[in-house]
Amino acid sequence: MNDMHRTNDLRHVIEADRAHVWHHLSQHKPYETVDPRVMVEGKGMRVWDATGREYLDAVSGGVWTVNVGYGRTSIADAVRDQLVKLNYFAGSAGSVPAALFSERLIRKMPGMARVYYSNSGSEANEKVFKMVRQIAHRHHGGRKAKILYRERDYHGTTIGALAAAGQDQRRDQYGPFPDGFVAVPHCLEYRSQWGAVENYGERAADAIEAVILREGPDSIGAICLEPVTAGGGVIPPPRGYWEKVQDICRRHDILIHIDEVVCGMGRTGAWFGYQNYGVQPDFVTMAKGVASGYAAIACTTTTEAVFALFKDDAADPMSYFRDISTFGGCTAGPAAALETMRITEEEGLLANTIAMGERLMAGLHALAERHPVVGDVRGKGLFCGAELVADRATKEPAEETRVQAVVADCMAHGVIIGATNRSLPGLNNTLCLSPALIATPDDIDRIVEAIDGALGRVFG
Ligand code: PLP
Repeated sequence: MNDMHRTNDLRHVIEADRAHVWHHLSQHKPYETVDPRVMVEGKGMRVWDATGREYLDAVSGGVWTVNVGYGRTSIADAVRDQLVKLNYFAGSAGSVPAALFSERLIRKMPGMARVYYSNSGSEANEKVFKMVRQIAHRHHGGRKAKILYRERDYHGTTIGALAAAGQDQRRDQYGPFPDGFVAVPHCLEYRSQWGAVENYGERAADAIEAVILREGPDSIGAICLEPVTAGGGVIPPPRGYWEKVQDICRRHDILIHIDEVVCGMGRTGAWFGYQNYGVQPDFVTMAKGVASGYAAIACTTTTEAVFALFKDDAADPMSYFRDISTFGGCTAGPAAALETMRITEEEGLLANTIAMGERLMAGLHALAERHPVVGDVRGKGLFCGAELVADRATKEPAEETRVQAVVADCMAHGVIIGATNRSLPGLNNTLCLSPALIATPDDIDRIVEAIDGALGRVFG
């Protein structure tokens, strides 16, 4: 902690926050009696708040973002150097870091070719929705404009992205939404819609095809899926799912959009989540981990075939992608992303993610043996979840307030974890863990210990 912190000079900061800051995703009533939490400093896996309390952060900045950990001076230096050279120019021109990062990124994504820059995951996804609609207008006579999305997936906070949200509580009170977005069934085998079936993955993929046939294949342009569902409860795809989804989409000429906003840049142990499952997308979007939260950046990547659909008629003034994102021209994002990628490579963070992810999963399985409230354990790389149930036989979800009590108890014991939170009616019962990719065995063990203690205290 720095001197300012030690002298407890931060009281006025907490009061300024209480008086003027509107926190994301937060009910403010409690702040009338309890201080809002204000974060001050971070180093590696640890953060300190304005009261000087230290936390081990098991969710990479709260929302699975700070993949390479806090306090990376080399990223700060790269951003500073870039800012003094050229901080900004509109994205209708290129910039040195955008060109170089695009080149490196595309090398990690065989089959992809182009990178379109913006600022947030929501925005990156909105770009795809616009591209799909423009392709429909220009190449399919206005048909094929619908977009499929999956129950329990989430693609962002804007009205368009919420129209594609498979989490009803996130949409509640924010309608009306634009037309043209159609839900397909989730793929969580633990809560199988068809009882105990063999080949659940194929069955869930068939359920997508049933929606396509109901809607009419020539009305559907794309499907938007998370490679591993994140905030909807950490749901890795079941065996056989992606192969069949890909086959169905190819047969019906439906473009595949994979939302890697959470999984991208190493979270699952591969550069991109989809690369674990042998699927070849047409669009990939990414944001959070791309620059590890050191600067705002989001990317919409496409194949050359998709790109070609927008440059096929130079004589037509309306044929190109008529979209702009002012701050997509900021150079800090790609500068920070280049250094984040270098760190990820040079420190072997993908291999660490696989090893530490296995340790975390083993720890969670051990908890399931001791605590009957743990109904299911799921994960891929350093992205894991434990679903809590009131009754293992019926799988009745644990009460949301008690799940939140586990999160609060871990926080009180110095470990920040997450949980599905007011997104799925009746199913906000999954603890979510996404430590930075630099996690050590000690960090993982401490996270598991904290959950162990919390489950004991909350559920007895
Ligand atoms: N896509 C997924 C899978 C997400 O989890 C999120 C945010 O949590 C988003 C998109 C939206 O990203 P952003 O908050 O940067 O707009």
